[in-house]
Amino acid sequence: MSTQLPLRARLAATATRGVAAFSRATGRGDGSVIGGRVGLGIDPRLLRRLAANRQVALVSGTNGKTTTTRLTAAAIGVLGPVASNPFGANLPNGHVSALALAPDTDHAVLEVDEHYLPHACDAAQPRVIAMLNLTRDQLDRAMEVAMIAKLWRDTVRGRHLHVVANADDPMVVWAADAAEEVSWVAAGQRWHDDSAVCPECGSAIERVPHANGTAIHWRCTGCALARPKAQWTLDDEAVIDPDGNRHDVKLNLPGRVNRANAAMALAVAARFGVRPNDALPRLAEVTSVAGRYAVVERDGKAIRLLLAKNPAGWLEAFDMAEQAPTLLCINARDPDGLDTSWLFDVDFAPLRGRRVLISGDRAYDLGVRLAVNGVDFVHVRSFTDALAAMPDGRVEAIANYTAFQQIRAELNRVD
Ligand SMILES: [Zn+2]
Repeated sequence: MSTQLPLRARLAATATRGVAAFSRATGRGDGSVIGGRVGLGIDPRLLRRLAANRQVALVSGTNGKTTTTRLTAAAIGVLGPVASNPFGANLPNGHVSALALAPDTDHAVLEVDEHYLPHACDAAQPRVIAMLNLTRDQLDRAMEVAMIAKLWRDTVRGRHLHVVANADDPMVVWAADAAEEVSWVAAGQRWHDDSAVCPECGSAIERVPHANGTAIHWRCTGCALARPKAQWTLDDEAVIDPDGNRHDVKLNLPGRVNRANAAMALAVAARFGVRPNDALPRLAEVTSVAGRYAVVERDGKAIRLLLAKNPAGWLEAFDMAEQAPTLLCINARDPDGLDTSWLFDVDFAPLRGRRVLISGDRAYDLGVRLAVNGVDFVHVRSFTDALAAMPDGRVEAIANYTAFQQIRAELNRVD
């Protein structure tokens, strides 16, 4: 496929690979961002050219997109090699790198930042888009949820593509509903605060627990927007496909959240002709995603790293964490958002009764929140001090973005 590219695009793709390799060799990260930037500088249409003639799936949403991208690429891997951006470089530079580094694949699965979905759609002409969820990413950006839902809705309207969407998120449903074809997945929604109001008419969204106690039906009290019937559902440890077949999902990733991510991946892969039974063994091989979920042995402790970037992410992390001593680490640097008042939107009660240590630039803000929530804790100055203070055995470490990267660095860059 690369031989069909025009000369400028071939040079640009070669430069992308070269710069990325140089960046890796000199220890400056995986090089996908800088490599893509150089490639796009040489040929601004490089993404479009590299995506042409491939079958592309895009994965977007506030939370879970890196994991779902990884699972989807694993599932579609049944059909052959897949180009992907597995480390979360989800802007055009990262997409160019992912495709330039795997020039001859028939399939590509790309994680896309929520804001860039229109751009990625124009350039990559995807066959399938997976829409996971939309919640506030940082308090600074809280007002953007409805705006992004509108952006997505306008993006899919009138395009010839298939959307795989979370039926439990009203914002996602409203966006996906404008698409020609949709597969609905009962992927769940723990965080309701950002979809309390209907994006169509502004009325309140009403939620009613299902008779089976798990799914929650929702509907707008002012218009016809309501939870669609899901073709793909979850039942404890299993995913049920549109034909009603039950598939036991054995993942090496924790929590119901990741089983829901697996259901999304299976639904996307099915659009490419991959049967769940063929995909499931490959999903089980995914053990760590960009350092997340990895269990690292250190000083008699088995430390698992969980990333929580926003309120919805914290609730999901509590779902994934085992009943074990837990380190919470919070910074408030630029990538984290500077305002930590969101801490008061998150219910930390699931941590009551556990040994809880806190650390990070904003440990004191967190401490106040935990005190109000009735969770006992001890403050430590560093990750090393936290390890020294923990008993041997399993330790859960939940951190926001820059705190997570710090811990990862201290553990020598877990892959
Ligand atoms: Zn409404």
